Amino acid sequence: MKNVALIYPNKFKGGISCLAMHVLYHHLNKYRDVRCDMYFLENYSQIKNRDAIIITLQYENDYFNVVRIVEELRSKNPDAIFIAGGPCSMANPLPLSDFFDVFVVGEIEGSDIMYRLINRERDVEGAYFPEYHGKSREDFRRIERVYPRKLGIEDYPVRQFTHPSGAYGKAYLLEIGRGCPRRCKFCMARAIYYPPRFRKLEDLIYLVDEGLKYTDAEKVALIAPSVGDYRHIVDLCQYIRERYNIPISPSSLRADTVSEELLKVLDIRTLTIAPEAGSERLRDYIGKDISDEDIERALEVAKGIGIEGVKLYFMVGLPTEEREDIEGIINMCKDVKRRFRRVSVSVNPFVPKPCTEFEKEPFNMESKKTIKYIEKSLRKYGIQVTYENFNSMVVQCVLARGDASLGDLLRKYKKPNQLLRYLKKKGLLERYIGPLE
Ligand code: SF4
Repeated sequence: MKNVALIYPNKFKGGISCLAMHVLYHHLNKYRDVRCDMYFLENYSQIKNRDAIIITLQYENDYFNVVRIVEELRSKNPDAIFIAGGPCSMANPLPLSDFFDVFVVGEIEGSDIMYRLINRERDVEGAYFPEYHGKSREDFRRIERVYPRKLGIEDYPVRQFTHPSGAYGKAYLLEIGRGCPRRCKFCMARAIYYPPRFRKLEDLIYLVDEGLKYTDAEKVALIAPSVGDYRHIVDLCQYIRERYNIPISPSSLRADTVSEELLKVLDIRTLTIAPEAGSERLRDYIGKDISDEDIERALEVAKGIGIEGVKLYFMVGLPTEEREDIEGIINMCKDVKRRFRRVSVSVNPFVPKPCTEFEKEPFNMESKKTIKYIEKSLRKYGIQVTYENFNSMVVQCVLARGDASLGDLLRKYKKPNQLLRYLKKKGLLERYIGPLE
């Protein structure tokens, strides 16, 4: 029997709403000779004497926790193999290459990759062993990603744990599809989950029925990079509503997929869309492909059915950004506020991500000022602007595109600000956030 600990390297609240945790837990416990338990930041310290420790790398900013966890658990689990998976493991695991024995480069459904790694096999497709393959970017990029060509019902976790404190509340997570048919040049999800694969409607109906039979849920959270691009989205939502009469929470919708039918069946109070940039020119340049008309139409549809709130997501510091693009954000928000009672705006700096078309673009340190300017300009109109801590976004960029030499620094500097201070002091920051060759 192999005893495996599966860890989400952050709080329970996020981990319980992370589909990857449920997929892995369900997948591994299907093997008769594997026993897998789930852990989170709150309780990982009790893990000892395991055969394998798996950590899912969902966000770069979790790396500080990851290093702490691995360092603590190595001595308590002397025989364990340390395995990492998740989007960051697929895109660029180099900054953590000193801390894991192996990284999974791909998706585990329909394959035995995880099982074989737990059983210490070495010659496994889609597995990156830094000590063996080498720790340079070229070494890593030689590893071919593995993924199922189709997503079906096998391997789907219909028995999920839920908790009211979960990020979506007590929700059953229903993954409609993976990969995105759109072409946004900044989007890592598109790059690492390519090609787009949607589940069949009948499969999703089966997964809803089974899921709501076995999962203690009060709503269904739809998971897909672009939910509205699913051809049968209205049929699926109608089915859930009619049969179960429970709320459905979609992730954000693309403005060009918003329809009256969809908004009605979702019964949402706030329309959430991500124009990303303030002008059509810049949206075209970044591949977002949403026209002013698309946005206008989405707002009209929402207004028409009585929706009173709008949430808009933007990025600043995008390549080729000009003053007009920033003014475009402000004007769009003001215009929306004239027509909707509740408007909230989220503005964050563009962070170039590995594997995307923009991976070599610089991170723009001026973004901080731009965000403050937008906030100030909108405050007088009663529009609230939210944003992430700027330094943590800079560090996100460093870790997203960083190399193996960051391992020593992560060992030494336990917090994002400490790492950032060191990089600035030594004049190393530009190496990580400037344009790449
Ligand atoms: S639509 Fe969304 S998920 Fe799809 S490529 Fe663009 S940003 Fe990524």
